[in-house]
Amino acid sequence: MKSPFRNVTPVRRRMMSAIRSKNTKPEKLVRRTLFAWGLRYRVHLSSLPGKPDIVFTKRRIAIFVHGCFWHAHTDCERWNLPKTRSGYWREKLENNARRDRAHLALLRSMGWRTVVIWECEKPSTWMKRLRRVCSTEPKATPSTFRKK
Ligand SMILES: [Zn+2]
Repeated sequence: MKSPFRNVTPVRRRMMSAIRSKNTKPEKLVRRTLFAWGLRYRVHLSSLPGKPDIVFTKRRIAIFVHGCFWHAHTDCERWNLPKTRSGYWREKLENNARRDRAHLALLRSMGWRTVVIWECEKPSTWMKRLRRVCSTEPKATPSTFRKK
């Protein structure tokens, strides 16, 4: 293969093009799941640090659904630095990850609980985590966030 993008695998190309955008496939799955659990949420709340993908305002839960490439999921077996312009990518992606950490810290300092879901995670794994967070709310009662 003599393409100038021969160092960019099809998987990576897909990751690089798709993940930046809102309403990614994993994000939609998370939203469908929460909806099926009877929970109603806001999406992309720009008034909060990091513009969380899914937010329960009354319960103060902010959920981020992160693409492994753009958010530098370095523990992930699907993650590796592009071979071309790797210095540029390293700096860019490390900055993204640093910014993510700062947003999470800020949200927590504001009394929010945060959940980060990685696109590579099995749904059964993040569902367990979400269930736990969503079912431990000291103040709100189900009727305050369940719409009939
Ligand atoms: Zn990952």
